[in-house]
Amino acid sequence: APDAPFETGIYSRKKDIYNESRLTLMSDLRDALQHDQTELYYQPKCCLTTGRVVGVEALIRWHHPERGWVSPMEFIPLAEKTGVIRHLTRWVVNRALRDLNILQLLDPDLTISVNISARDLTSVELRGLFETKLKRHEIDARHITVELTETAAMDDPNTGLKALETLASMGLSVSIDDFGAGYSSLSYLKQIPATEIKLDRSLIHDIDTNEQSRVIVETAINMGHGLGYKVVAEGIESEQSANLLRDLGADMIQGYWLCRPKSLEELETWLAAHIKKTSDRHSAVR
Ligand code: C2E
Ligand code: MG
Ligand code: MG
Ligand code: MG
Repeated sequence: APDAPFETGIYSRKKDIYNESRLTLMSDLRDALQHDQTELYYQPKCCLTTGRVVGVEALIRWHHPERGWVSPMEFIPLAEKTGVIRHLTRWVVNRALRDLNILQLLDPDLTISVNISARDLTSVELRGLFETKLKRHEIDARHITVELTETAAMDDPNTGLKALETLASMGLSVSIDDFGAGYSSLSYLKQIPATEIKLDRSLIHDIDTNEQSRVIVETAINMGHGLGYKVVAEGIESEQSANLLRDLGADMIQGYWLCRPKSLEELETWLAAHIKKTSDRHSAVR
């Protein structure tokens, strides 16, 4: 599957005219989830000081029989609007935990991150979902992180925060995704029981050349640390950016430079090689 850009085809170009086609897309997605025709790709997250992969992020992929690859940027928002996200999240959590069992054969400390929509917090019984799946796959909650995006878009902030606190009290980690983009709000930062923030790619992409971006990123890193969070920089596409982020104090990176999102099988191969390399050669990120 491509990681980006996707062929979005007819559907996105004519989305205003083809409302019915959006509904069809959503019923196709439900079918696909039911019949395991969706897939999870995994992208590693690497510690900038040790070079070790500490975790992988699960990213959903869907190859539609007629439309080809459909980007999550296209179907996730629709799934949120139509309620299909509940089914998607259940499928993702189950698959991710199953796959973590396989990946932990390579590294028993490995963690997995799943993306959860702010709207899931109020519409999915996440506690029950995680309890069931953790038990089924015999996984310890501390190996799971939920990445939450658009926290300011929570339907009902009180219920949303309560749901997050429940997850945190079960031992799961919470990460604030896409920090610095769109709807992320500073006022939520101090209320969310998070342990990690992920700086959005839009903040990072030009730090090699733009002094102002560098100041913003450095300030965001310091703020994150001041609040007690680990700071991940996402969308790192060059060695130069990785080095700069290390100098600015970021804890971890994720991005094409380290590794593109891969299928489970491809990731197993990549991870085995990476583990070998970093144990031979300390503090090499790549
Ligand atoms: P995200 O959680 O912020 O994930 C990072 C996105 O950036 C992924 O796009 C990834 O493939 C891409 N990416 C990673 N490294 C680089 C890089 O170096 N350069 C560039 N240009 N891009 C990079 P993807 O997989 O298309 O996912 C897009 C968004 O869709 C995700 O953003 C997340 O918000 C959402 N999403 C994906 N899978 C799921 C899921 O299972 N559940 C939910 N609720 N949302 C999901
Ligand atoms: Mg994410
Ligand atoms: Mg993100
Ligand atoms: Mg995102």
